[in-house]
Amino acid sequence: MQGYNTTSILINRDTLIDAGSVSSVLPEEEVRAIRHILITHPHIDHIKELPFVLDTLFSSRAHEVAVWASGETLKALTENVFNGMIWPEIRDLNAHKDFISLREVPEGEFAVGGLKITGRQVDHIPGSLCYQVSEENGSVIFSGDTGYDQRLFDLALSLGDNLKALFVEVSFPDRMEEIARLSRHLTPLLLKNGIDGRLGPSVRVIAYHIKPKYLDEVVAELPPNVAYIVGGEVFEF
Ligand SMILES: [Zn+2]
Ligand SMILES: [Zn+2]
Repeated sequence: MQGYNTTSILINRDTLIDAGSVSSVLPEEEVRAIRHILITHPHIDHIKELPFVLDTLFSSRAHEVAVWASGETLKALTENVFNGMIWPEIRDLNAHKDFISLREVPEGEFAVGGLKITGRQVDHIPGSLCYQVSEENGSVIFSGDTGYDQRLFDLALSLGDNLKALFVEVSFPDRMEEIARLSRHLTPLLLKNGIDGRLGPSVRVIAYHIKPKYLDEVVAELPPNVAYIVGGEVFEF
């Protein structure tokens, strides 16, 4: 909706999680600094500006850019977006110089731009991932889109005080739980059931991906101590 953007999270200036709103929000020089893009899943609200980000980087080709995602997501992107019809094929974009690499997220931890990343499956569409992002002083989790998935909450709990923040999707108000379950999203109540009293007091829980149409309702229902973002916020950990 007008005034709202779709999911993109920029970390340490060069690493992006999802590419929903990038070119339309960031100054061009900040887009040019991006070197790593981690995609949670290929729904349009998470990838719609990926072609434009790559286009901006392509025009300078000053450095390589890696797009990380699950095998299912990479397949969806190459078959449905970078297919020579909707947008050029990656192979053609790389014709003069290899600068885009598509990389499947491996099992376990891998290094990206000074960060340690782990991608784990969550219950949304096949191949959907959440990302645990770690530096020496701790970890942050980005849930991606997900329905109620005990694996996500168990991961958050397992990190103890090392977990600085859980950015977790909450899409629909409680009265729409059936739609949330069908579309594999969370409501405030489902989030509460997942974290209820079990995360340490130092862990910040931050809701995102709230459908703008239901923002006020969702915010009013969020459990105590759960913050929310609507775009443009900056966090330091
Ligand atoms: Zn989705
Ligand atoms: Zn989404």
